[in-house]
Amino acid sequence: MAQFFYSQSKMGLYRECPLKYKFRYILKIPEKPKYFFSFGTILHSVMEYLYSTPQFPPLEDALKFFKQKWSAQTWEEKGYGSPEKEHEGFLEGQEIIKKYYEKHVAENLHPLSTEMKVYADIDGLTVMGIVDRIDYLGDGKLAILDYKTGKTLKREPDQLMFYQKLLENSPKLLPLVQTRDIEVQKIKIEKMLFYHLPTLTEDSFKPVDKEELDIFWKGAMKTAENILAEKFEPTPSEQSCRWCDYRGSCPVWNLNPEPKAEQEKPQETLAEKIDRLGKLSDEGRALKAEIIKILKEQNLNISFGTSYKAELKEEEILTFKDEEKTIEFLKQNNLLDKTLKPTVKSILALLDDHEISEDKKQQLRALTTKEIINKLQCIKTDN
Ligand code: SF4
Repeated sequence: MAQFFYSQSKMGLYRECPLKYKFRYILKIPEKPKYFFSFGTILHSVMEYLYSTPQFPPLEDALKFFKQKWSAQTWEEKGYGSPEKEHEGFLEGQEIIKKYYEKHVAENLHPLSTEMKVYADIDGLTVMGIVDRIDYLGDGKLAILDYKTGKTLKREPDQLMFYQKLLENSPKLLPLVQTRDIEVQKIKIEKMLFYHLPTLTEDSFKPVDKEELDIFWKGAMKTAENILAEKFEPTPSEQSCRWCDYRGSCPVWNLNPEPKAEQEKPQETLAEKIDRLGKLSDEGRALKAEIIKILKEQNLNISFGTSYKAELKEEEILTFKDEEKTIEFLKQNNLLDKTLKPTVKSILALLDDHEISEDKKQQLRALTTKEIINKLQCIKTDN
């Protein structure tokens, strides 16, 4: 059996869904590329490039480096939905690099390390992580920095505590610090930062105390034990299933097997087309009712397929309590000529008519009743 390396991303994925973990790490089924991961990976490599020399290289070189990395994969390989979307991503990346450069070029900062692979043996496990940047603050003190490239700067305290535990136990860190300051005998993680590249903002945290870290690590070890005990029951949720590429193989979703290969079909007649349309409409209605029922049971108003999302909305509609009485009322109040036919639509228009008194509107409303209907829309998703 291959050696087990425990990482924060493994812990996070297992906690998200153990079965997803199994698909990715045990069965090694590759996932589809995701544009947000490709975007993040490329920007991380540009950051590494900027700090690879004591001073930033010229901006043109950094942009050239970015372009090279960007062009190394097609838009599909990067996971974009179209060449246009990919181009938008490229322009956004370029803009981020220019702004980051402008803001930080004068600092002449020389980090202790960038994209450093850190390993430590903790409680019988080999724990690993890649730390985006480690800055030396003097006196054995370190700042750990993690770049974020998503839409918002999400706080992930689990990630920070995992890094804290890993770095405090890493045998590699002290010798590295001693290359800067030979006198140092003990290192201290002084602060931990998330740096959000799209907005150039930082969120900094003090490392947690020993007690809190011990509690966290106990939980992390429990997760590792479950992984090693091969407990891989699925834990579906809207959030995790939404982007999960394994839905086709997941028993929770139980999708149909591969569609049969298209066979040569004889030309379809008009009558057959009409029947087919009718059948599809019937199936569509039944499927809609089924989806609405599931969404309601699960208290969801939105859910995702691979290429479509289903949105459920409640709409209030008016119906006549008694159509004859309504027509009688319209006649008596000389309102019938305002409606070609007393339909729900025309009554709604009357209720909106400024020339009709509030009192009459009130009486008209009393002749109708309100009903809540569920409206389901199926919309193609765009990435
Ligand atoms: S589809 Fe949902 S339940 Fe199934 S493996 Fe993916 S995340 Fe887990």
